[in-house]
Amino acid sequence: MEPQVEPLLAAAPHRPPATEQAKAARNPTPFTRVAYADVQRALRKALRGERLTFDDGVNLYHAPDLVELGAVADEVNRSKNGRDVYFNVNRHINPTNVCALSCKFCAFSRKPGEPGSYAYTDDELATRAQAAAASGATEIHMVGGLHPRWNLKNYQNIIRVVKENAPEAHIKAFTAVELDWLSRRERKTVAEILEALKEAGLASLPGGGAEIFAPYVRDLICDTKLSAEGWIDIHRTAHRLGLRSNCTMLYGHIEDVESRVDHVLRLRALQDETEGFQVFIPLAFQPENNDLGITKHTYGVDDLKTIAVSRLMLDNFRNVKAYWIMMGDRMAQSALHFGANDVDGTVVEEKIANMAGSRSGMAFAKSRLLRLIRSADRIPVERSTTYQPLRRYENPQEDDIPHDDGKEGTP
Ligand code: SF4
Repeated sequence: MEPQVEPLLAAAPHRPPATEQAKAARNPTPFTRVAYADVQRALRKALRGERLTFDDGVNLYHAPDLVELGAVADEVNRSKNGRDVYFNVNRHINPTNVCALSCKFCAFSRKPGEPGSYAYTDDELATRAQAAAASGATEIHMVGGLHPRWNLKNYQNIIRVVKENAPEAHIKAFTAVELDWLSRRERKTVAEILEALKEAGLASLPGGGAEIFAPYVRDLICDTKLSAEGWIDIHRTAHRLGLRSNCTMLYGHIEDVESRVDHVLRLRALQDETEGFQVFIPLAFQPENNDLGITKHTYGVDDLKTIAVSRLMLDNFRNVKAYWIMMGDRMAQSALHFGANDVDGTVVEEKIANMAGSRSGMAFAKSRLLRLIRSADRIPVERSTTYQPLRRYENPQEDDIPHDDGKEGTP
């Protein structure tokens, strides 16, 4: 982890005592402290399809041979997905950045009336939804701040406006944090809120707001946010009501390896229970404009290890996404050889990572996604939000989409 923030984490009041493996992993020379035999044992277990433990996960994060770790994660991924790599044609809409909370890592939120704050009008939502429909988007992804004046009717209205202007698109919207906020504001259960939003057109949930579950980290980066248990319970409720959802992990800030492993184990446990998660998405921390004092992007090796270890720990997930917005297109492409089988989609307008210093731009043309996947020696498969294959682009000669000029794509 970043040396500059280690003291902050070390002082965290609820940090649990470290296991021997975790103590070794914290050592700056893990090559000598984490027994290679333990790493190899974990890799062999993964190849045999055996479930990995917390200690296995910690050891794998300190695997001295990145290529070996990647090869095993690639093997496990290919046993589930072959050479297919998913993408979709989607559009992000962030309806407002006005937020009642002040998470320390967040560069996106603004207080009401603060310069740079915004809340889309119906016309602004409609324009974006129409553009999505015109570009053939099959999915509209919406997340935003916790606007102090918005109630259930506002959220239903957002869905209604978007649905009216992009009737064919699947609406994947509102994180567990937004749903918790709305449920407390309306004094209704989360199930009641979800039923009302479903009726308006909500079709699935995104995975944001999970950040890092371990309380000794969560308390330092977003102490007023929905708890880990609350986040998990909202996804459990959504799954029970027939809504599939995604899940994420924000890494590369002040968390440690143990908290990353703990995080994916909690997700794995809920997946055992409900099978409602569609994909796991590690989100690389973007370092601009935050209150954590972090100024560096994640390193490539850490990005690849995070994808690979997640793939191996999450034995009950079919899909692991290398989200190009956060990782950058080059790392996302490399991650396709480290266990990832999805790169997300065309996106078009993404404000959350962009305001935090993402260097990836906001849009990718479909032709560019095809090229990114193919040049990794994988087969692009356009998917629906629920991971139904829509088209397999096996043969480049049969592409019937215009080729972009290699620059940032346009919708
Ligand atoms: S991360 Fe979400 S809840 Fe936290 S301040 Fe930013 S917009 Fe608000």
